[in-house]
Amino acid sequence: MKYRWTTLAALLGTWLQAAEAPAPRLRSEVAAVLNRAQQPEPGAPLRPLHILLVAGPKDHGPGEHDYPAWQKQWTPLLARAANVKVSTAFPWPRPEQWDGVDLAVFYLKTKWDAGQLAEIKRFQDRGGGVVTIHWAIGCDRDWPSHAQRFGLSYRSASYRHGPVDLKLTALDHPVVLGLPPSMHFVDEPYWPFIGDASRVTVLATSAEKIYRGDDRRRNPGDETVEAVPVFWTYEPADSQGRVFVSIFGHYMWTFDDPYFRLLLLRGMAWAARDRPYRFDRLAVDGVELAD
Ligand SMILES: [Zn+2]
Repeated sequence: MKYRWTTLAALLGTWLQAAEAPAPRLRSEVAAVLNRAQQPEPGAPLRPLHILLVAGPKDHGPGEHDYPAWQKQWTPLLARAANVKVSTAFPWPRPEQWDGVDLAVFYLKTKWDAGQLAEIKRFQDRGGGVVTIHWAIGCDRDWPSHAQRFGLSYRSASYRHGPVDLKLTALDHPVVLGLPPSMHFVDEPYWPFIGDASRVTVLATSAEKIYRGDDRRRNPGDETVEAVPVFWTYEPADSQGRVFVSIFGHYMWTFDDPYFRLLLLRGMAWAARDRPYRFDRLAVDGVELAD
């Protein structure tokens, strides 16, 4: 009997925590956002760009943290952009796979050990752009060294799954041009971060009861609300490489949200020191919109 109640409680817990997929964005609103951004001039040559997508073994439940599915879907998606070459690595690039790469995008859970951080530093030293998505910001040790490469670091601490009202905080940044100042998502913010927040440019935040996350570990009665970073950019003082970090990316439906795609695609272009809007049209490629 005890076992049965335990199973029932576990099932109930899963059901209570299950998030509902967000409604599709309105076609007219998305079109207005896209129209506000500068498009590449017709006929102007786009710089050839080599993008490396790095994924690792899937973790979490169905529809969550599906790094291999992302790699499989985003390889052809990005290949539909002009003058782009896409290559893939799993679960970490072999030495020769860094050759000629302009931008490396990481969606995985990895240790970020000293060897991996040294490879990132070498890549950044030659101007390589780096993007990390969701748990890719999680580091297992030496958080200060990790934060030096990515701006801030995350030691698996607090998190919350569910509805998020994302607030833009750097309205003049090219990555967020034309996007609504507040956007509803269903995903997962993390906090707190390790590192000096004044060294990053926070593009968007979520207001979180920082002692009331899904981990429920600390001060359960404390209702303190803080704006926690969800998207940021970073330029390490000790190298040439640009960095864009997205904490969103828990649920796979987020990758088919045109506003998330705009943030991610523009963050990628920005990190590669390219025109931020060169991938904009991919934001609605194969995406369901409401009329
Ligand atoms: Zn997650």
